[in-house]
Formats: sequence, C-alpha cells, structure tokens
Amino acid sequence: MLTENEFKRNLAMVKERVGRFCEEFDRSPEDVTLLPVTKKWPSEAVRFCMNAGIDRVGENRVQDALAKQEELEGVAWELIGHLQSNKVNQVMGRFDRLQTVDSPKLLRKLQSAAEQRDLRFRILIQVNSGEDPAKFGLMMDEVDGLLEEGLRCANLLIEGFMTIAPYAPEDPSVARRAFDRLRSLRDRLREDFKVDLDELSMGMSGDLREAIGAGSTMIRVGSALFGERID
Ligand SMILES: *Cc1c(COP(=O)(O)O)cnc(C)c1O
Repeated sequence: MLTENEFKRNLAMVKERVGRFCEEFDRSPEDVTLLPVTKKWPSEAVRFCMNAGIDRVGENRVQDALAKQEELEGVAWELIGHLQSNKVNQVMGRFDRLQTVDSPKLLRKLQSAAEQRDLRFRILIQVNSGEDPAKFGLMMDEVDGLLEEGLRCANLLIEGFMTIAPYAPEDPSVARRAFDRLRSLRDRLREDFKVDLDELSMGMSGDLREAIGAGSTMIRVGSALFGERID
C-alpha cells in the first residue's frame, strides 16, 4: 500500500494528464469525472481519496465494498463489477449507482427490489462495445431492447452507459474504436428515445486519452492512482 503523499503525487499526475487530453480534444476538464477504483485496496485508500476532496469511489465486488463501508462514512460508492441477479438486495441503499446492468433478468430484479424499498435506483447499462464474447456487457444490438424495458421501470434511473475497452496496449486505436462505437450508439438512442443518457463511463489507467477523445464523462482509474497490486 502506498503512502498518502505518493497517492497525492499520482493523483496530481492523473489530473495533469486528464487536463492535457481535454485540451487536446477541446473538452472541459469539469466534464470528465474521476472515479478512483479502490478495489483490492484497504479502506485507507478510500480515506486518501476523501482527504483529497473526492466524494465517490468505484468497487468491483459487493462484499469487499460492504466491508469498507463498515469502516468509513461520507463517500458514495459505485459498483463497477459484474453483479449476479440474486445479489440485488445487497446493493440497494448501499451503492449510489450500479454501472454494470447487462441483462433483462438483472434489470427486473433491480426494479422490484427498488420498488419494494420505494426508492429510485441509479444505473448505467454496461455495453460490450468491443464485442468480445468472453466479456460481460450487452452486445451492441441488444442495447435498444434493454433500454426500452429499462425506461419503463419506474424505480430505476438510467443515466447512461459503461464499457471496458478490449485490452490492446500496443494499439490504442482498438480502445478508441470501442469508445467511439458506444458514443455513437448513445447519440442515436438519445434521439430515438428522447432521453438524456448523459453519462459515458469509459476509460481506465491505460486508455484515458482514447476515452477522453471519444467523449467519456467518467474515467475509472485504479493502478495509475494506487499502483499495481501484486499478491
Ligand atoms: C479495475 C477496474 C478499473 C480500473 O482499472 P485500472 O487499469 O487499474 O485503472 C476500471 N474499471 C473496471 C470495471 C475495473 O474492474
């Protein structure tokens, strides 16, 4: 685990890069939210974020996040890892948003759990924009159907989309194409369904430039802030 000063240096470096990419692509840095990904790290990592004025973090696994929530208050949690539909009750009220809705079954369970609790639950639809069969997320041609059903779910608020680009560090154009595909899909759906769908959660430590160039509104950054964890 790194020290708080090391974290601050990494954070400054990430912000500097984001600023540079925003300038390159003629975007405003305020339109790109940094979501630190604290998975694999203890609650101290979340504390560092809070001390730096960051008010939300991303976690991959429900159980890990819930354990950290026991130790900390005053920060919002977003679930960015796959959620099994039998675990929806564990996220309601505990996570500010779920970024990984990727099936009608999960959607329906979320709707009924949110209805039971009489709350409006915020979600993003996860899209497999690289069309990699080994990955989670809806295929591009399945998104219309899920969105249509989701918009009828009175207790869910669909705020946009999330994607993970294919891993291809030697060829950044692979990530850029995946991000562009999602951005275009979102733009079309916005017209077709007359809804905002403003959030585009795309970009991680290795593909920030491509994500910002393609219009990302939220970058999910782990290793560039906290380092690689070897265990
Ligand atoms: C781990 C993870 C990230 C952060 O990845 P880094 O490459 O460490 O920045 C972002 N999004 C998801 C869904 C992740 O699982």
